[in-house]
Amino acid sequence: MPTRIPIIAANWKCNKTPSEAIALATGVVQGVAGIPGVEVALCPPFLALAAVRECLAGSRVRLGAQNAYIQEGAYTGEVAPRMLAGLCDYVILGHSERRRIFGESDTLINAKLQAALAAGLAPILCVGESLEQNERGETEAVVAKQVRTTLDGVDGRHFLEVGGVVAYEPVWAIGTGKSCPGPVASTIIHGIRLLLTEIYGDSVAQAVRIQYGGSANAGNIAEFMGQPEIDGALVGGASLKVEEFVAMVQQTARLRA
Ligand code: PEP
Repeated sequence: MPTRIPIIAANWKCNKTPSEAIALATGVVQGVAGIPGVEVALCPPFLALAAVRECLAGSRVRLGAQNAYIQEGAYTGEVAPRMLAGLCDYVILGHSERRRIFGESDTLINAKLQAALAAGLAPILCVGESLEQNERGETEAVVAKQVRTTLDGVDGRHFLEVGGVVAYEPVWAIGTGKSCPGPVASTIIHGIRLLLTEIYGDSVAQAVRIQYGGSANAGNIAEFMGQPEIDGALVGGASLKVEEFVAMVQQTARLRA
């Protein structure tokens, strides 16, 4: 069984000016220095990527973007994967806020994912059910459809080799303070891994990291990281506070050492 190094990734969303981002990133770099066995990634807004990259120089903290388009050209306001390659390691794709507010479909996310991979970026691919879908008992079916469609035609070994990550993020848990119980998240993530096994075979499926995201914080991270099936967290609100985010990384290291 391959060892999957847990990844705690910060999604700062549409928060922080470049100078505020520098302060936050500097605090995180100092706070996580010397914590072993956990990968840490920061995903600031586009405008702060270059400044945060400088703060991360010489540290093991990785950098990610929160979105990318498919290609360069006449796409006002968009950023293409090739512009991010060389700047970032990761790119978050399929986040529920992009699906819900900006109308992104699984088909578009699939195209973005393929373009990101072609540029050498590691996708953090988000999937998850809405509250209504959860209440109707459709979680597994919804998540399976999202995984199948967004990964359609994607080379699983390439996804693994660039460091691609899947994030199970129930939409009803994002930014609500109402997290998914750890054992429930673990069961859904186990289901995603079984699906990856069906699509890509056991060696890829066992090695791909699958995170949990949705109101994870320093008070509940142990609930998730105590589940061997869960390979880290995608953290929104709690990643905007240095001490809280660092505490999440510390607890992850302690539980997974
Ligand atoms: C997210 O935006 O991916 C997220 C998990 O947000 P929060 O931690 O605030 O729920």
